[in-house]
Amino acid sequence: MSRVAIIVGAGPAGLTAAYELLQRSDVKPIIIEKCDVIGGLSRTIEYKGNRLDIGPHRFFSKSDRVMDWWMTMMPVQGLPGQEVEISYHNQKRTIPVSPDGPAPDDVENVLITLQRQTRIYYLRKFFDYPISLKLVTFTNLGLARTIRIGLSYMKAMAMPIKPESNLEEFFTNRFGRELYLTFFKDYTEKVWGIACSKISADWGAQRVKGLSIVKVVTHAAKKMLGSVTDLRQKQTETSLVEQFMYPKKGTGSMWQEVADRVLAKGGEIRKDSEVVRFITEGNQITAVEIKNSVTGAVSYTHLTLPTNREV
Ligand SMILES: Cc1cc2nc3c(=O)[nH]c(=O)nc-3n(C[C@H](O)[C@H](O)[C@H](O)COP(=O)(O)OP(=O)(O)OC[C@H]3O[C@@H](n4cnc5c(N)ncnc54)[C@H](O)[C@@H]3O)c2cc1C
Repeated sequence: MSRVAIIVGAGPAGLTAAYELLQRSDVKPIIIEKCDVIGGLSRTIEYKGNRLDIGPHRFFSKSDRVMDWWMTMMPVQGLPGQEVEISYHNQKRTIPVSPDGPAPDDVENVLITLQRQTRIYYLRKFFDYPISLKLVTFTNLGLARTIRIGLSYMKAMAMPIKPESNLEEFFTNRFGRELYLTFFKDYTEKVWGIACSKISADWGAQRVKGLSIVKVVTHAAKKMLGSVTDLRQKQTETSLVEQFMYPKKGTGSMWQEVADRVLAKGGEIRKDSEVVRFITEGNQITAVEIKNSVTGAVSYTHLTLPTNREV
């Protein structure tokens, strides 16, 4: 009997793992997904004839292997030349292109290259995404809110929370409680689906790389003294417009394509099924308890362990 791997969740990680198992081994992946849509946070939802992504996604990685993997799943549109530059959060790289690639109008599954600026609409104003602590950000916030932010920042500097054990404390210690409540709390909880108090502090470090109030104040002081030229400011603004790769039919169509390939190769995807519990014997998982997300019915998938299995 071939071996089976239970994968929890049909998001990018689960689908990639399933596809790679099918490519490289005889292990049959069974993906258990609690929703009726695949793609996880990278899904595309259809609503009244429109296709909506949960968040603005860019297919950008510093790793050639990851970029190649995506481009194997979905070809890049035909473009003149041999390569184009793409960017994400001010990082840049090139990707190979060919004039022989598909024309976006002719095919459904194609990575098109787009130029876009991503912004947050808040208080009827546009803020940079990811949020940057530039002067215009505070101008948009208004004087009263900025004063509150300043005071609460000073309080955080004078009396930081120690030990810093979760993301809420991480943000509060670095930006003050007021700025945390304004920009980080609701936003982070909405997009990641978890309260900041339940996310580890380490995670915060990679999300807010380069954001520092000290840098903002230094920059503002230099500007007042005239040592920051207009040209530099112009370059900062321009860099917010980025060129990137994007599946023509939304982020989720990439993951739908991977799901289709997983199914074609003999993998299984069970939707509307939530993994509730693993049942173990010693240190081995013998079964998975699954609840149907629609009916609430509970079922079990048993795993047959090969004899002489090394753990
Ligand atoms: C607003 C926003 C913008 C983003 N922008 C980018 C970007 O530009 N570029 C980029 O590379 N990444 C971006 N990301 C991050 C990207 O979406 C995630 O890194 C990626 O979706 C993580 O994939 P995952 O499979 O690990 O988890 P998820 O996408 O969270 O998928 C997990 C899946 O598991 C399912 N699940 C959870 N618990 C259970 C259970 N008990 N039983 C069964 N199923 C379960 C969930 O329903 C879900 O489908 C962005 C994310 C957000 C929110």
